[in-house]
Amino acid sequence: MRRPIVAGNWKMHGSREENARLVAGLVDGIGHGGAEVIVFPPAVYVAEVVRLAAGSAVAVGGQNLCTEAVGAYTGETSGAMLRDVGASHVLVGHSERRTLYGESEATVAVKFVAAQAAGLVPVLCVGESLEEREAGVTETVVARQLDAVVALAGLGAFVQALVAYEPVWAIGTGRTASPDQAQAVHAFIRGYFSAGDATLGDQLRVLYGGSVKASNAAELFGMADVDGALVGGASLKADEFLRICDAAHSVGGRG
Ligand code: PEP
Repeated sequence: MRRPIVAGNWKMHGSREENARLVAGLVDGIGHGGAEVIVFPPAVYVAEVVRLAAGSAVAVGGQNLCTEAVGAYTGETSGAMLRDVGASHVLVGHSERRTLYGESEATVAVKFVAAQAAGLVPVLCVGESLEEREAGVTETVVARQLDAVVALAGLGAFVQALVAYEPVWAIGTGRTASPDQAQAVHAFIRGYFSAGDATLGDQLRVLYGGSVKASNAAELFGMADVDGALVGGASLKADEFLRICDAAHSVGGRG
């Protein structure tokens, strides 16, 4: 059974005061059961958000981690440090990391392995640009992004990982992939894993990300291979995010 997941990527937003208000709103409204809920605050706030969410059903993750475990890497945060302060997950290969910070497919693969080595569940983000979609190479691009990680980590590593399909043209643009567009790529991703291991393909949870809001979540979650969402902007308001979680609850698990 694939339990739905709703993840909130706060990006570089928030303050101690805003985070406390947001987490209090989530903790009050979330309940237990239903969708798995994870929030991804900026690194400097992870420890405090872990404390604020303690005892609730809200898990906490990092938005990024260093390729290296320890050493002279000024400004970096290791997977072990995220784990040490209570994070359970980490985003790997978010398109903003790939495009704004030049993370190559090889770097993303190393980060995926580093995350698992530290005991974190990596959420591998993949997706095509608008030019790539218009050129009809979406599947080629997504397969190449997956290949890079599978080549280093092995297919079996995805038993302890999540994949987020995030078309770059839909992130923060207000332009969401249609449910059919999302479903087509999600089915492709599931098929990619099923080809190597049918059970893994059945069990892998694939989240959709790209301008998910309370108003479009239910129809996206209604698609057979969409197991939840990675939400950016709409995760910064407790009531909006909770409504997305409710939409995931009502769809329930699959597989
Ligand atoms: C994201 O940050 O991964 C994202 C999908 O953002 P938004 O929901 O704002 O498009």
